[in-house]
Amino acid sequence: MQLDGIHHITCITADARGNVDFYARVLGLRLVKKTVNFDAPDVYHLYYGDERGAPGSILTFFEFPLAARGRAGVGMIHRLRWRVGSDDALGFWAERLAREGVQFDESTGDQRALAFRDHEGLGLELAVVETDDEPLSAAADGIPAEHALGGFDGVRAYSASPSEEERLLTEQLGFAMTAPASYLLKGGQRHATYTHDEPPAAVGIQGAGTVHHIAWCDRDTDHEAWDERLAQIGMHPTPIIDRQYFLSIYFREPRGVLFEFATPSPGFAIDEEPEHLGEQLRLPPRYEHLRDQLEQRLTPLENPRAKTVRP
Ligand code: ZN
Repeated sequence: MQLDGIHHITCITADARGNVDFYARVLGLRLVKKTVNFDAPDVYHLYYGDERGAPGSILTFFEFPLAARGRAGVGMIHRLRWRVGSDDALGFWAERLAREGVQFDESTGDQRALAFRDHEGLGLELAVVETDDEPLSAAADGIPAEHALGGFDGVRAYSASPSEEERLLTEQLGFAMTAPASYLLKGGQRHATYTHDEPPAAVGIQGAGTVHHIAWCDRDTDHEAWDERLAQIGMHPTPIIDRQYFLSIYFREPRGVLFEFATPSPGFAIDEEPEHLGEQLRLPPRYEHLRDQLEQRLTPLENPRAKTVRP
């Protein structure tokens, strides 16, 4: 069984409108699904990605409108890293993000990278990465195709004792250790990096601008076997859960980061046409009877793409 890089990363926002503006307009990701939190349907679950919403490109946000600003601490992912194609692309993004008043961070040590934060403080990074992986990009107004984000490269997490995770990652999940506290997941089609950093002294708080979990992409045919294996090695996985666009298993790795394994199928075109992804509120069948009520209650969102981009 082999994991195939990142499937999606899920974070928390208190501001769905600002979130769509930042990720769809400023960063140029495609809003590929506008749905609700399946465990609490009165708030949004927004999905961004490349043109198709391919695994490896998907960033999702739960909206909790009253959530206080969180902060990343031990056992939490604190930075998401996307690939871009060239140093010219980094130059383009430095200029575009500065024009948007985005807050930049000190470099994470990588010369060919740009570290910054979204409007709620979530740590982000764009990096030029040597890879054979196919770029996973979306078309967006004002962003030349050659500079578009090309899918996730990986994440950085805070861990006080990374050796505890080392065995799980390398012996059970198929990651290779490339440097102390740095791992590479070399999938059949996609690669992903997972890096541990020394945690800050302050304890982490889950809230707006923090990462909720990371999902690794498994294969449709392996999903059940993973659930069994994770149970055998004491990870206490959930049963397989139907998330409408993929099947999921969740468990906490030893330092507390919530991991999910998600299948590539059926994907985001299961309930709307590929050319109209993300345009209408989509609800799973069990919440369809709440549609009128939810449409009244949810903050109306303006998708920048609906107005301008028609690739
Ligand atoms: Zn998930």
